[in-house]
Formats: sequence, structure tokens, C-alpha cells
Amino acid sequence: MAATTTLTNEQKNNHANKASLLESTQTVIHEALTKLGYKEETHELLKEPLRMLTVRIPVKMDDGSVKVFTGYRAQHCDAVGPTKGGVRFHPEVTEEEVKALSIWMSLKCGIVDLPYGGGKGGIICDPREMSFPEIERLSRGYVRAISQIVGPTKDIPAPDVFTNSQIMAWMMDEYSRIREFDSPGFITGKPLILGGSHGRETATARGVVICIEEAAKRKGIDVKGAKVVVQGFGNAGGYLAKFMHDSGAKVIGISDAYGALYNEDGLDIEDLLDCRDSFGTVTNQFKNTISNKELLELPCDILVPAAISNQITIDNAHRINAKVVVEAANGPTTLEATRILAERDILLVPDVLASAGGVTVSYFEWVQNNLGYYWTEEEVLTKLRDVIVKSFANVYDTAQQRNVNMRLAAYMVGVRKMAEASHLRGWI
Ligand code: GLU
Repeated sequence: MAATTTLTNEQKNNHANKASLLESTQTVIHEALTKLGYKEETHELLKEPLRMLTVRIPVKMDDGSVKVFTGYRAQHCDAVGPTKGGVRFHPEVTEEEVKALSIWMSLKCGIVDLPYGGGKGGIICDPREMSFPEIERLSRGYVRAISQIVGPTKDIPAPDVFTNSQIMAWMMDEYSRIREFDSPGFITGKPLILGGSHGRETATARGVVICIEEAAKRKGIDVKGAKVVVQGFGNAGGYLAKFMHDSGAKVIGISDAYGALYNEDGLDIEDLLDCRDSFGTVTNQFKNTISNKELLELPCDILVPAAISNQITIDNAHRINAKVVVEAANGPTTLEATRILAERDILLVPDVLASAGGVTVSYFEWVQNNLGYYWTEEEVLTKLRDVIVKSFANVYDTAQQRNVNMRLAAYMVGVRKMAEASHLRGWI
């Protein structure tokens, strides 16, 4: 990765985008705390992570050279309990992004009422261009570098963009070796055989589906036959398209980083899932593709941005042609766009609620690890549904009662727990 002094224009844009994500998160946190009647000092405490560690990880590459990677771990607030959140491997990771994502994890944990605060990690790397042994050495190196600030009762990592259960297994093994005892509760999203939970792999998508059903009910939309567009075909987007297809909805558009596919009569999702690669790429195998920009503006009932941030902005919010937008990705809609969608009476289910299914089942996994007693898939899914249905109703009702949009309502519900716990601990 180039040093900060020699950033390309593209890298500068990326940094500016990520910085604005953090700023807009802070703006909404401020608004939420003010509406809840908290003083300025509470905002001062919660506007940034309590702790942010930057690490440099030397990795021996397969060709014998050594590459030094930069990684981060942010811990937003540990007033409620240990911090919790994924680790992403991506070339565009920035410090501001990891900070914003850790704050979002606090909000998610608050909204679904888990005994955690938020944390997040990231490494600037492109796993698509690395071999498995190189990814393993990088994963282990990262755990060694952050080992002092993480642990089953301190900060519990999990998968995120371009990390998976195999990477969690390597990280868990490295941590267990350092501590000299088996520590499955150090990390979630592990393979089943190493203490993973049934239902974790599909949990984010299931949480989104439950939010879609709840939003559809309130908007009088029948999910059966509803036209759905999904941006992104990775872990969340892929399973989500499948579950929606299975429940009788018509998935008319999907996309990956390189383009999008559209069929007004519904796409053959099973077939597309069969031919996608492990990073969710599938459109490169087709000739008649449309752009991601065109995909977002397709007429549909439900639009699900499940890819990257800053997709619905002031430039296209006026042309979004959906009745409901459910954010499966983190930060896909800017604040201006949130306002425009609200004015146009498009119901927006915010990321911090819609994508909280993953961390909810991560919590179930951690509880099972602590108990040493494991649940069936049915038990996990029933508990997940209860949590998401209840959390959706709480945020929706708050939005109605306070006459605010669902994003601000979700922030109000999410941040309250952090503020109250910090107050009870005597910090503010
Ligand atoms: N990375 C996921 C998220 O952003 C899951 C975090 C977790 O399971 O702890 O919600």
C-alpha cells in the first residue's frame, strides 16, 4: 500500500468517502443523544472509539519476499460489556472506516439488546490476490499483533468483508496457542466443528429477510410475487437472494463489483449461486449486463443494497424506484439520500437494524461456547426471529412516536444503552 504522501486520486477519494462516513455517523449520534436529552459530554464520549490500535504485520509471501500489512482494531465503547465486531480484509480499509464501523457495531448491539459494545477490525490487503498460506500467515500475524486487547471477555472478533469461517479458525487457533488454553469464545463465525453455531453462516441474510417481511407488512406489500433487487452477491447478498427467491419473491436484479444482471421475469438464483466464485463474482460470465448504477434505479418493490457504502446518494436518491429500501450493507445510503427517500415516502430500514442478524447469532455462538452446550439450528433460528421481530418493532414504533425517520430512531434505540451504562458506571 502506498504511503499517505503518495496517494493516488482514487485512494484520496476513498479516504474522503470513509471520513465522511465517520462524520455522518457522528452527526446522527449527536442528533439521537440530543433527542434523548443527553448532555454534550455524552456525545464527547461516544463520538469516537475509546481505543484504536494500529498494527503493522510482516508476512512472508510465497515468493520469499516479506510484505508489511497495516491493520486496525477499534473498540468503541465497553461500558455495556466486552466489545464485539468483525474483521475485514480489503484494499480500501481506512482508519476512519474502522472507527465508523465500530460505532455501528455498538448501535447494532444496542438495537438487538446484546450485552456488548461495538468493536471492529480491518487489514489493508487484497485477499483475492493472495494464496491461502499467505492469508493464513496474515490472519495469525494480526492476532499476535492485537492479542493484548482482545479476548472472550474483552473484545470478540468475527467475520466481515472478505473474511470467512476458515480465517476465524486460524485466528482462534493462534489465540489459543498464545493463551495456552482452547479459547473458542475468543472469536465467532467459526466452523461448526470448532465451536461455531448452526445458522451463523446465513444469519445476516436471515436477519435482512425478517426485516423485509416486517417492512412489507407495514407497507401492505405481499412478499410473494414482490419484485426484489439485490446489490451484491457475496455472503449477505447471495443468501438473501436465495431466501427471497425461496419465499416466492421475484428477484429481478443482482450485481457484483463488476456489473449487474436484470430479468424482469425473475433471475435463476440457484443457477447464479452455483456459478459465482468465493468472492461473490458472477456477472463476468454473462454478456448482457447492466451497470450497478442502473440496477439501483430499477422499478421494484424492495431494494436491498448488500454491497458497499455510499451507493444511494444525493445524485440518485430521486431516481430510486422502490417502495422499501433495506440496507444489508454497512452505510450504503448517505444522510442527504436518507432525507430524500423519507420525503418521497420510501421506507428505509437502516443498516444498524437490518444487518444485525449476524452479530445476534455471533452472540448465540459465544453463549454456547461459554456454556459448552450447543443448540440445534431450529433453536437458533427461532431465537434469531424473536430478536429481530422485536427490535424491528421497537425501532419502527420509536420512529412513529417521535416522528423521525427509521435511521434516527435506530440510533436513538442503539445509543441509549451505551449512554446509560456509561452513566451508571460513573464515567459521565
Ligand atoms: N461483521 C458483522 C457485522 O458487521 C458481524 C459481527 C459479529 O458477528 O460480531 O455485523
